Amino acid sequence: MLLTSLIGLTLALQAAAADKPEQALLPSVASRVSGLEKRAGLLTFHLDRQRGRVWLEVPPARDPDEGSQFLYVEGLLAGLGSNPVGLDRGQIGPAHLVALRRVGGKILVEEINLKFRALSDDPQERRSVRESFARSVLWGGDVAAEDADGRALVDFTSFLVRDAHGSAESLERTGQGAYAVDPERSAVDPAACLAFPDNVELEATLTFAGKKPGPDVSATVPAAVSVTLVQHHSFLRLPDEGYRPRRSDPRAGFNAIFFHDYAAPLDAPIETRWIVRHRLEKLDPKAARSRVKRPIIYYVDRGAPEPVRSALVEGAGWWAKAFEEAGFLDAFRVELLPEGAHPLDARYNMIQWVHRSTRGWSYGGGVIDPRTGEMIKGHVSLGSLRVRQDRLLFEGLAGTDRTGTGAPDDPVRLALARIRQLAAHEVGHTLGLAHNFAASTYGRASVMDYPAPLIDITKDVQLDFSSAYATGVGVWDIQAIRFAYAQFPPGASEPRELEAIVKDGLARGLVFLTDEDARPAGAAHPRASLWDNGDDPVAALEHAMKVRAIALRRFGEDAVGPGTPLALLQETLVPVYLHHRYQLEAAVKVIGGLDYTYAVRGDGQPPARFIEPERQRRALRTVLGLLDPESLDLPEPLVQLLLPRPLDHPPNREMFKGRSDPVFDPLGAAATAASMVVRALLQPERAARLTDFHRRDASQPGLREVLDALVAKAFAKVPADTRRAALSRAVQRAVVEGIIDLSVDARAPADARAAADWTLARLREQLGKGPEGGEEESAHRALLAADLARHLERRGPEQARPPAALDPPPGSPIGDEAGVD
Ligand SMILES: [Zn+2]
Repeated sequence: MLLTSLIGLTLALQAAAADKPEQALLPSVASRVSGLEKRAGLLTFHLDRQRGRVWLEVPPARDPDEGSQFLYVEGLLAGLGSNPVGLDRGQIGPAHLVALRRVGGKILVEEINLKFRALSDDPQERRSVRESFARSVLWGGDVAAEDADGRALVDFTSFLVRDAHGSAESLERTGQGAYAVDPERSAVDPAACLAFPDNVELEATLTFAGKKPGPDVSATVPAAVSVTLVQHHSFLRLPDEGYRPRRSDPRAGFNAIFFHDYAAPLDAPIETRWIVRHRLEKLDPKAARSRVKRPIIYYVDRGAPEPVRSALVEGAGWWAKAFEEAGFLDAFRVELLPEGAHPLDARYNMIQWVHRSTRGWSYGGGVIDPRTGEMIKGHVSLGSLRVRQDRLLFEGLAGTDRTGTGAPDDPVRLALARIRQLAAHEVGHTLGLAHNFAASTYGRASVMDYPAPLIDITKDVQLDFSSAYATGVGVWDIQAIRFAYAQFPPGASEPRELEAIVKDGLARGLVFLTDEDARPAGAAHPRASLWDNGDDPVAALEHAMKVRAIALRRFGEDAVGPGTPLALLQETLVPVYLHHRYQLEAAVKVIGGLDYTYAVRGDGQPPARFIEPERQRRALRTVLGLLDPESLDLPEPLVQLLLPRPLDHPPNREMFKGRSDPVFDPLGAAATAASMVVRALLQPERAARLTDFHRRDASQPGLREVLDALVAKAFAKVPADTRRAALSRAVQRAVVEGIIDLSVDARAPADARAAADWTLARLREQLGKGPEGGEEESAHRALLAADLARHLERRGPEQARPPAALDPPPGSPIGDEAGVD
């Protein structure tokens, strides 16, 4: 405190002392910028086109400690175009609260620390937090001119010609080499430096010079040692005080900002979470349904060609219904971006069409006021190759001869149905919604789930695509928008109203489960899965296997277009042969699974429940059925179509890897599919749960039961015909390798690893008990037994010890360091 006042005093003295002499040294702003091109708006700057410089006027601040504050956002106007590296066209960074502050002879751009705050009216309380945690100065420049009222001028060029996006770091992190901005080949673009009343937009072309470029840069950039991107910067006026933050609720499915509030009462948590949402206000706050002061409008990139463009407008527009249901009339619209408007201009919520060299993620983000969680600019990036990948998927299932027919099985029509949904999904993120991976288990309840195409089977055993994708937002989406946006009549208690909305959703069975419940391979909740269908994942897997069998039977030349090399059938085959892969992930979650919710105290939701043992055993039987040689084999005429690669079509990552190059390896594909099953089943987390659930309830299947069933299935009986016998051996190999992996996995508990080794030891004995089948069979069993022996008799120090996983959390209330109190 004392030190700070001294500094404050010193600065005041300096300012007083500097008053006269510096006036003499520094010219006035007007004289310094005379002859330059002036741009006046939220901030005023002057363009020196000849020298390629931008001079910024920094207005005098009311409180010099606080400076003049703005939201600052940077992003890439023009990107690299490589999904693995991630520097996409239109990629924007998080919004920062920055202050332009004069300190002595310098102008500093300082980022204000919002991780720690005091939401208090007491300025001293706020100050104690502000001074306890560091701020970050992003840039500094010398004052070049000043006026008597305190207005200062600074050469802002080096702020703009700066790797604000962290592009060099992204290149390095993804193994593309060490790059740095080369000032010689970088420049401000004066034509793209614009001032508006509420925002200032500035832009520079940056060239990153590097050595030893990595493979993704080499594949994408003309001269890989020189990566040229366009860096955009925006300064935005701080939104007014009219927005009211809304508390987050774990059951509501909304993304949130997070900070510590040191002014929270002692009996309240200091961790504060406010949801992300747009500002939306009724014209008539008392009316249950009302038009709004300012509707939410999204704009679609004119770079998106038809028929994609119309699909994007239509799909994103589905949200209007959810807002209507929440009481807002004509509150949500989707239009084409006005001609000449800049996609990174903060005034436009954008749906941008982005190209990359390989297919990749689309995403929904935007400019969020870091102080309140208010979404200022929703910004969606849609990867253009995605729609082509969906088309490929349906070409494999239905055939390219259906393309252009307009029928329900037209691959292009299906891909467009999917992109409507994708547009709605990504816009949903920018409205604040998180993924709800449980929504596909109670109807098609949300665009915020990942949808697998729902393919029916007709009476004459054909595939029926007529209800492949749902249209419109679902019941969960409507529920979520209600929670986040509902405006309550004046005088109502917001916490009570919000709890009532949540309770209503729970009563209607609208379950919310998100990424952490669904994505990890060891995830536990049978309702939380990606790319799955229906409320019974096991039945859906059985259905998916039937669809796959029909698709494989009909798969042939027409899975590629006329005149296309037949070798490219290898790419189309992958999604058909692995048609069941995501439904497998869903079904396997039943085994050692747990049914749970994000219950809060007092909401009446039940505690965690085991899955009924019979359901788990049925799931196990179905999953093990995927190891049948019949379902792993490919029809012989199909294999003969899978030609080696022709000139100029090298192998790529969309194909099965094999061991019989250049010829397609059907046994390799079978081994891949088999180990997918074994790995899913023997995830270390699942093994740990099976072990513990069986300990707590003997009726639950244990890990030993699963291992025994797996071995029994794989080693049951050798098929009589040699074609299938070889597939059966590939399955046995995959099973043994999977169990070995579990037995040495440090993430698995010792009991699970012991069970794995025990199973292998008994298998080894079994393999030694005389030959079965012909010589090939005997040779295979001898090699397996030898490999098992090597594994089981391993010597040396035990490597599978989780180093820190079981350390206790810290205990002392004042930290663990000795000698501190
Ligand atoms: Zn998403």
